[in-house]
Amino acid sequence: MLKHEVEEAKREGLIGTIIQQGACKCCGQLMKIETIIDWDEDRCHELATEKCDCEDAKEYTRKKYWHENANKKISLLFENKKEPVNQEAVGLMRNTVDLLIDNKLESISIDLGQGVKAKLCKNYKGKIKVERTNTVKMTEEA
Ligand SMILES: [Zn+2]
Repeated sequence: MLKHEVEEAKREGLIGTIIQQGACKCCGQLMKIETIIDWDEDRCHELATEKCDCEDAKEYTRKKYWHENANKKISLLFENKKEPVNQEAVGLMRNTVDLLIDNKLESISIDLGQGVKAKLCKNYKGKIKVERTNTVKMTEEA
């Protein structure tokens, strides 16, 4: 989310912020927004959309947040250095995120082999839940 980038920049104080103008992509309303110095027009409009109060912009921003959040969880659970899984499977999971957000899928489970399973589903609000299950089977032959 761009608004989080601005908040972070202000908190860390390493990059300057300025006041610019942006237009909501949904309703076209112009507004003054605090942005990061080298941002182009597209980013200003995107941030204005994140901040706009119109219903379409709120819906857009909510979905965008869910999308980014789900992708972050996928990275954390499946792309960490200790136990990464193959990139194609991660790509498949990323592709299903929007289908879930747009109500085209309710949930998806993927068996990644080696006892690793992934499950993506929605909670009651529509936010995406990402789960990783590692099953370790122990057998000993005597
Ligand atoms: Zn708007």
